[in-house]
Amino acid sequence: DAHLSDNFMMLMEWSDEYRQLGIYTNADTPKDAGVALDFGAEGIGLCRTEHMFFESGRIISVREMIVANTKKKRKKALDKLFPYQKDDFKEIFKVMEDKAVTIRLLDPPLHEFLPQNENDIKSLAKELSIPVESLKRTIEDLEEMNPMLGHRGCRLGISYPEIYKMQVKAIISAALEVNEEMGYDVQADIMIPLIGTEKELVILREQALEVAEELIDQASVDLSYTIGTMIEIPRAALLADDIAKHADFFSFGTNDLTQMTYGFSRDDAGKFINQYMDKEIFQKDPFATLDQKGVGKLVDMAVKLGRQTKKDLKIGICGEHGGEPSSIDFCHRVGLDYVSCSPYRVPIARLAAAQSAINND
Ligand code: PEP
Ligand code: MG
Repeated sequence: DAHLSDNFMMLMEWSDEYRQLGIYTNADTPKDAGVALDFGAEGIGLCRTEHMFFESGRIISVREMIVANTKKKRKKALDKLFPYQKDDFKEIFKVMEDKAVTIRLLDPPLHEFLPQNENDIKSLAKELSIPVESLKRTIEDLEEMNPMLGHRGCRLGISYPEIYKMQVKAIISAALEVNEEMGYDVQADIMIPLIGTEKELVILREQALEVAEELIDQASVDLSYTIGTMIEIPRAALLADDIAKHADFFSFGTNDLTQMTYGFSRDDAGKFINQYMDKEIFQKDPFATLDQKGVGKLVDMAVKLGRQTKKDLKIGICGEHGGEPSSIDFCHRVGLDYVSCSPYRVPIARLAAAQSAINND
């Protein structure tokens, strides 16, 4: 009721006076972005782009792109996806106005976009006018024993530069159009996932800059954009000083970072984690509550190393932990600039961030 809502608003405003952390949200639709804004989100810290590839009318072009056996065919399929991606981003930029929107380039293994069962494979082959056998071969070639440790994230951007180029073109064109149409000052932050080596980031940053600069040169309006990286592979955390040379910001992907630091599959760990908690091997599920000693040590190290290279490097977190109070407290203590969490956790994140500021300063 109105009374409760007044109290809620007062508590939230009070929190905002004390907290030092920015509160961003993970959102990949204009609707989620709107919900998060109503709850007080100050930006988008993670806009995943994979769901957009699954929508009807597009998934066929995605599949066409994956089975393409020449660069030209791949490019043609991506050209069909481009207007959809551009509109996706335009709608999100319009909702967010001049607040930061961090868009992550494609992350999942391509295999996820292809059908699994015999009948679906047959009908897709027919739709694409290719032999069933050749489609089966493509699917087999993409199969991996451990896809989450395989051909995904920035590795896709290295293997198929056209995919990331299309996405960067869509992000920058969308931002320029929204600036022109609405008079906004869109903050487009392009985020590259799963970086493990400096060289990957050098190549992908250069490629993104080239696409972006060409579009901006031709445009009649200005645009501020940045290119940053997720820190979600332990090697990237260990070498964060080198990685920071080529990144405008860092965002910790603590879901993957937890998986890779423990060597627990994030998709399978649920099956045995309760036994581990029963035996007190650990007290809390490290995928829900940040393991401050181990994973956190990597986070703390990467913050320090990153800021050795760039004193004011903007750093946040966008793993599930960004909406969990004790993890937020840790983020405050190691000096992150913001946490990003799902829209419905934004209020609790605002409160937790205020509590940490009060407790620690
Ligand atoms: C992460 O790994 O923490 C992350 C935010 O990305 P995703 O969950 O999409 O892998
Ligand atoms: Mg990840």
